[in-house]
Amino acid sequence: MNTSVIGFPRIGKNRELKFASEKFFKGEIREEELRQTAAELRAYGWKKQQEAGVKFISSNDFSFYDNVLDTAVLFNIVPKRYKELGLTELETYFAMARGYQGDKGNVKALAMKKWFNTNYHYIVPEIDDDTEIKVAGTKPYDEYEEAKALGVETKVSLIGPFTLLKLAKYTGKKNINDFKDALTEAYTVVIGELAKKGAAWVEVDEAYLVRDLSAEDIALFKEIYDKILAKKSSVKILLQTYFGDVRDAYNDITSLDFDGIGLDFLEGRLTEELVEKNSFPEDKFLFAGLVNGKNIWKNNYAKTLDKLKSLKAKFGDKVVLNTSCSLLHVPYTLESETKLTEDYTQHLAFAEEKLAELKELSVLSDIADKGNVAAETAFQNNQKLFHGRVNSEDKAVQERVAGIKESDYTRLPEFNEREKIQKERLGLPIFPTTTIGSFPQTADVRRNRQEFRKGLISEEQYVEFNKKKIADCIALQEEIGLDVIVHGEFERNDMVEYFGEHLAGYIFTEKAWVQSYGTRCVKPPIIWGDVSRKESITVKWSKFAKSCTDKPVKGMLTGPVTILNWSFPREDISIKESTLQIALAIRDEVLDLEANGIDIIQIDEAALREKLPLRRSDWYSEYLDWAIPAFRLVASGVRPETQIHTHMCYSEFTDIIPAIDAMDADVITFEASRSDLQILDSLKENNFKTEVGPGVYDIHSPRVPSVEEIVEALRKMRDRVEDKKLWVNPDCGLKTRGDKETKESLVNLVKAAETLRSEVQ
Ligand code: GLN
Ligand code: ZN
Repeated sequence: MNTSVIGFPRIGKNRELKFASEKFFKGEIREEELRQTAAELRAYGWKKQQEAGVKFISSNDFSFYDNVLDTAVLFNIVPKRYKELGLTELETYFAMARGYQGDKGNVKALAMKKWFNTNYHYIVPEIDDDTEIKVAGTKPYDEYEEAKALGVETKVSLIGPFTLLKLAKYTGKKNINDFKDALTEAYTVVIGELAKKGAAWVEVDEAYLVRDLSAEDIALFKEIYDKILAKKSSVKILLQTYFGDVRDAYNDITSLDFDGIGLDFLEGRLTEELVEKNSFPEDKFLFAGLVNGKNIWKNNYAKTLDKLKSLKAKFGDKVVLNTSCSLLHVPYTLESETKLTEDYTQHLAFAEEKLAELKELSVLSDIADKGNVAAETAFQNNQKLFHGRVNSEDKAVQERVAGIKESDYTRLPEFNEREKIQKERLGLPIFPTTTIGSFPQTADVRRNRQEFRKGLISEEQYVEFNKKKIADCIALQEEIGLDVIVHGEFERNDMVEYFGEHLAGYIFTEKAWVQSYGTRCVKPPIIWGDVSRKESITVKWSKFAKSCTDKPVKGMLTGPVTILNWSFPREDISIKESTLQIALAIRDEVLDLEANGIDIIQIDEAALREKLPLRRSDWYSEYLDWAIPAFRLVASGVRPETQIHTHMCYSEFTDIIPAIDAMDADVITFEASRSDLQILDSLKENNFKTEVGPGVYDIHSPRVPSVEEIVEALRKMRDRVEDKKLWVNPDCGLKTRGDKETKESLVNLVKAAETLRSEVQ
């Protein structure tokens, strides 16, 4: 049986791309050197896949920042303000990704969005009325030929035109209808060119097909592909979907002239049924996504072979075993993990181990009827992992979850009453200023942590250093004039891993990095067993911070839904069950902070939306109906005067505002600066009761916002949010920023708040 991989990680086993890009941004290396690193990473991935006998290996799955951005650039979807900077091609690309501030000008980055249910951020292409769509690059050709020169024949993967059109933002009067023909034509040109260069297969990734589709959407899809497929000549076209099933479009896409269709059999709840009921055309290859591209557990061979067997019985050798999505969403390899013992690693499979699984499964499926001793042993070994794996079970935790009462989900008294009590108690000025929690994780901060981890310094030295940092950070915040003080989160590597480390039931990796956006990677911890709080987690740092200032100090926690969503979850119990376990653990910490005199506690739910089903009809029943109560469970035990904040970022919230209000926090801060202020209109429409701090500037770019710019943003906010409910803060934590720009930005932020205060008083 042939195997296929949708895409391979590209950041490098040791995050080589991240480090090279960062050097390039700082001007420490030249473009050629960065390009050289990129080429080595591509070669590495191709070679690994080739060694594993993968028949369908992708090229053009590499990106310096993001594939959607690559595709936009390929088709000349580059807003004028970036072109006008007069930078080199690669610099323009990075200006779109990260913003630009320098001698050639000052522009913000394009917006980023997590369009699908992963932690990966896509860049949002902006199409304005002047955009002239045409082929303006050679990336797909270059990468195809580069692979070929290395002896690797690839399928060239492209983000599909339908998905691109649907996800792009139209900033002028024109809309999809005005651009679809030009884009279709441009894709035809690229595909034709690839055919000329000898490509046998082109893969078009149309992930948008797994969302809810209207009749209009389907008509658009058909119109585009009727044209593209009519001109495809010798090249074969694979329509690839992932992250769900294509229930709205199944019959339409299978009746088009694609040569192969890739379906997700894991996250696509209805995929099997669709294929069963409606069958699948005999003339097409069925790329069956059965090896999980998102989770890190070993594949259960019995289950997969069972499915393959029934697919093969129907469709014969046209079935190709595929990953369920790009392997971009999992780390490189277990080989980098030196600390986890075999007891753990035998249950895990990262990208490279998944390649081995593809290979083993392919052999096993071929000899299924004939019997083969070596393969049988592999099968037996695999199956042992799925019998009697008792994941550090903890009966007490299970009983506590079973004993949660309805009333445990409700905080009393209700919001309006609490709001009054808190205003009186805290005595903050109008438009209070604060930050989201972390301050720059500068080299000294990281070094201190690393040295402690390696045992090079004592715990006492480690703690002393952090205390000094906290004291300095608080002095800085007082100097700047911020109203609600944070301790700076210097003890945290990551907002989820840090909590995982203090919870029972977690295991950790050393190098299991997954790309989140651009050069930013995360290292999700793994939920191995039942979760509970082993010890107090943040109390000592918050208490120390409180001792450094008379201003209110905000304690910082990560919420249960985010901890779950940014961990690799178990597959043997439901994510709801795991989340409730985590919620109880964090609830213990909340009460501990309160008992230790912390009056404001922020419970971050940055990733609340991450596992929101892609189809609206499933939102509440499958997810929000337990995720929102899980948050409430964490906060419901505190006194009325304790103010609960929450923070969310980087996704669309506009359409789940009622659910966010139902979290019943006292204050919510969120990202609003890189996208437009739509969300504020939605707050107004929904009579949002919670106080809000819409981020007034984008912290994901090193650019320093001016006072005027912030004032202007705040004025727009005031039109939509009552003065007494408006907070002033950056749009996310400052940990990725440097000291200098952080201070300058915050000084401007406080000045802007003061300007506003003087206007209302
Ligand atoms: N409190 C966290 C911080 O400031 C929040 C991070 C996030 O939302 N991603 O870093
Ligand atoms: Zn954030």
